[in-house]
Amino acid sequence: MNEETIFSKIIRQEIPTPLLYQDELVSAFRDINPRVSTHILIVPNKVIPTVNDVCEDDELILGRMIAVAKKLAKEEGIAKDGYRLIINCNEHGGQEVYHLHMHLVGGQPLGPMLSLKNSNA
Ligand code: 5GP
Repeated sequence: MNEETIFSKIIRQEIPTPLLYQDELVSAFRDINPRVSTHILIVPNKVIPTVNDVCEDDELILGRMIAVAKKLAKEEGIAKDGYRLIINCNEHGGQEVYHLHMHLVGGQPLGPMLSLKNSNA
């Protein structure tokens, strides 16, 4: 069963978080704990817990998420310098909220994609 998370309440505006974008498929809002100067979350309106739960019918939503990332990156003034799109999946991916979301992060150099090396953890 696809359990709702805090993100569904934000999408429905039951929790007052300013929306940067919303249409019939996706919503976008700033991360509550920004790791870099621009940190935006782009989420499907319907609950898809993880990337593992994506199905063929969701392809339009996934495409829209990228299109919205492009639009917001331009609006935030970070498109030319560049940015990163991140989707975490499950425990090893570091996923905390089980409502699929794409992080749009930028506004400063982001360094190497991953810094883990020789981790035995
Ligand atoms: P994950 O680790 O699941 O990929 O990322 C979840 C993100 O959601 C985290 O960066 C966290 O700061 C953000 N987040 C968690 N709860 C809230 C909330 O209530 N409001 C907003 N705007 N962001 C949240």
